[in-house]
Amino acid sequence: MERDDACSFCGRNPEEAPTSLAAGAARICHVCVGLAREVIEKHDLDPGPKQPQLPAGERRPGWNACAFCGRDRTQARKLVAGPNVVICDGCLDSVAAA
Ligand SMILES: [Zn+2]
Ligand SMILES: [Zn+2]
Repeated sequence: MERDDACSFCGRNPEEAPTSLAAGAARICHVCVGLAREVIEKHDLDPGPKQPQLPAGERRPGWNACAFCGRDRTQARKLVAGPNVVICDGCLDSVAAA
């Protein structure tokens, strides 16, 4: 059973992985911030082939915009997707700077 204060990306409780950023129902722990930053840095070095579009059935409503600041794909430089939510590079930068 998932708790309200569990990380939206990995589902860890704050006792296991401290929350780095929270907004509304969305939470991201410090482990996932690190992983998401790696994803963005790797992508910056090697953008690779264009991401294939997921079938409509596999798209989540929460993937349309950053769960933490509300920027959508047209406003955020990059979005890193979790199971149900996404976080943008701007929010990851603000966490790292804090
Ligand atoms: Zn996490
Ligand atoms: Zn954001």
